[in-house]
Amino acid sequence: LFIAFEGPDGCGKTTIASRITETLQADYDVVRTREPGGTAISETIRNLILDNHNVAMTARTEALLYAAARAQHTEELIRPALDAGKIVITERYVISSYVYQGFARGLGVEAVKAINAFATAQLRPDITFIFDTKAQRSVERKLMLGADRMENAGASFHDSVAQAYRHFYDDDGVVVIDATQSIDEVYAACMREIETRLS
Ligand code: C5P
Repeated sequence: LFIAFEGPDGCGKTTIASRITETLQADYDVVRTREPGGTAISETIRNLILDNHNVAMTARTEALLYAAARAQHTEELIRPALDAGKIVITERYVISSYVYQGFARGLGVEAVKAINAFATAQLRPDITFIFDTKAQRSVERKLMLGADRMENAGASFHDSVAQAYRHFYDDDGVVVIDATQSIDEVYAACMREIETRLS
């Protein structure tokens, strides 16, 4: 079983993924990982992307590096673990790239899907939890400003990310979780879904 956690920064992915890993480890062999990262090469690429203080990285370079990190992660760690019958839990997978590089960085989702289909050899999670943070500030801003153009121009990066995730709520395997609930409720909602797939 391949499970991905998705959502904007600070939505609670790490906390819930940790708790779920602990629970499942009682009965299953669980591999817990994250993106960008998860293997030595992918972590090196992560540092290259995130610690780049000297020169601005172009959006296309960034998208290809995320995809390269994911290719290594998928082939070296995720695929073999799944083949060995393990449960794999990752923080972030392809939908992060659709959202951050496709929407937020403006490359377009089709281009980003194409490079990621190649990078992952079409592997997709069985369950992708997308944590919905309600993009509260965008809603408030819309009420204040009215005009769509203004609302979009003024939206923070975080809100544009939260909004972009909505394009994938109906995708295969996606389960939308209300991340404004308590940690216990979010955990329970995810566990219910996982238990259904495991039984
Ligand atoms: O989830 P985590 O905090 O480890 O992500 C590291 C950073 O990389 C975050 O700031 C996230 O916004 C960014 N990111 C990105 N594109 C991705 C995945 C993560 O810009 N495809």
